[in-house]
Amino acid sequence: AKQKPAHFIQNIIKRDLDEGKVTSIVTRFPPEPNGYLHIGHAKSICLNFGLAKDFGGQCNLRFDDTNPEKESDEYVESIKRDVSWLGFQWQGDIRFTSDYFDTLYSWALELIRVGKAYVCDLTPEQAREYRGTLTEPGRNSPTRDRSVEENLTLFEKMRAGEFDEGRCSLRAKIDMASPNINMRDPVIYRIKKVRHHHTGDKWCVYPSYDFAHGQSDAIEGVTHSICTLEFEDHRPLYEWFIANLSVPATPKQYEFARLNLNYTVTSKRKLRQLVDDGHVDGWDDPRMPTISGMRRRGFTPASLRNFCERIGVTRADSVVDVGMLEYCVRDDLDKNAPRAMCVLRPLKVTLTNYPEDRREEFVAPGHPNRDDLGERRLSFGPSLYIDREDFREEANKKYKRLVIGKRVRLRNAYVIEADECIKDDGGQIIEVKARVIDNTIGQDPEDGIKPKGVIHWVSAHDHLACDVRLYDRLFTEESPGSGGKDFLESINPDSLEVLTGCMAEPSLANAAAEFAYQFEREGYFCLDEKYSKSGKPVFNRTIGLRDSWAK
Ligand code: ATP
Ligand code: MG
Ligand code: MG
Repeated sequence: AKQKPAHFIQNIIKRDLDEGKVTSIVTRFPPEPNGYLHIGHAKSICLNFGLAKDFGGQCNLRFDDTNPEKESDEYVESIKRDVSWLGFQWQGDIRFTSDYFDTLYSWALELIRVGKAYVCDLTPEQAREYRGTLTEPGRNSPTRDRSVEENLTLFEKMRAGEFDEGRCSLRAKIDMASPNINMRDPVIYRIKKVRHHHTGDKWCVYPSYDFAHGQSDAIEGVTHSICTLEFEDHRPLYEWFIANLSVPATPKQYEFARLNLNYTVTSKRKLRQLVDDGHVDGWDDPRMPTISGMRRRGFTPASLRNFCERIGVTRADSVVDVGMLEYCVRDDLDKNAPRAMCVLRPLKVTLTNYPEDRREEFVAPGHPNRDDLGERRLSFGPSLYIDREDFREEANKKYKRLVIGKRVRLRNAYVIEADECIKDDGGQIIEVKARVIDNTIGQDPEDGIKPKGVIHWVSAHDHLACDVRLYDRLFTEESPGSGGKDFLESINPDSLEVLTGCMAEPSLANAAAEFAYQFEREGYFCLDEKYSKSGKPVFNRTIGLRDSWAK
């Protein structure tokens, strides 16, 4: 296979290793446990773990847990599961920024002692006003020049819980006139009287993201701290903390463009809203762009990794076509998914010339060119089901399915010819009467009249009743929520269609959850663990066979 040219971060690492700036690399994937991971996180996971793998380094999994009010163990567990499922293994134990709260606190004291941090009494609203704007410098806080002793005493009182939330904060003393607003005396500790999912009630002051992130990188010996472009303006602050504290290492921050996908939202806040407002049935709803949703839908880890490889890593913001993701899924499943037959909208066919009590067994390959996927056995009898869409009383030449007076091949079985159909009182076709053409297993009819096409089927006497859930895109617009609209206005009202009374070949009784099959002529489908009941499986459509959106 052709090797993709190295991307800019790989080039930076190569250079750093060549020049001996580092002897081996350490990266980290640092999710905040405040929601489930989505496809954008997959890009970051593949990048960070992929670099460690490419360069023989290590990648840590660190939970960036500095906002206790939004975080929970449920999210921690889901994130661990998602990273493992994608095929990556973190180095050593999982880590939590909260493991470093004692050290971070001591570094805050260190800054106070050297006169580089102070307790500020401005309320959050006042602080915003003092901060200035892009065109106007900020103003110094009235308490900016407190003595070291006073700051130490006040910060200790903050930690001891003596002040209410919002009453004061600890800020780095940098430069209120800096053109970079992040450098205008950023808050490094705030009071939050909130129980933490990992440290319990030990703390009521918590470090800010900016104060915690780089220092946690330093503690772990991270060499290349990779984040998305929104943090570019935070880099000077990242470097300021590292330069002004007695940290054990000097990590460097690099930024890359986040993944944006059309017809998709990739923001935990919006995904949470979809869950909370009941637009979907949980974070793992198969329509969600979450890793857990895509897993439940039958997407494979390899297809997601391949997608992340193809989109590449750059510093240019762009929107990727969701069709590319779908292509990667289809490509993987075409090569690897076992084949099966399932009739989604059953129509009965009675074979009038086939003996009532006769049964035959046909063998079909598990996959047309994968012997390792074994074979299936199909029991054949006088009555079977085909899809309603595969029969018409009359049709033109383009319709290559079953028509009265015409022939079609039943996949892996005989050629049949339709004679008549039976309708109910409402005119709806309820049964087709047809004949088997003799000697057509594996060969064309002897009279030279060839079948028009091939259709799938199941036997009436031996099949598995099931439900099938068909999914479409969750949003009807390329950029949900653009143009000042609420993203919820772009929700596709028809993103889910539930078909009941479907009939699958019996081999699907052994289907494992999340493992996709190709239902021949219909698409890729996998068993849904949540909705299936014993004896009554429910299948999710992973994706159609072709891109039905490409016009
Ligand atoms: P969200 O905006 O959805 O809340 P986040 O960046 O706040 O995402 P984190 O849990 O902090 O979520 O993300 C962990 C890592 O994943 C970060 O390094 C972040 O940069 C990266 N990441 C998040 N979203 C994307 C994306 N769309 N593309 C690439 N990387 C992403
Ligand atoms: Mg974040
Ligand atoms: Mg976030």
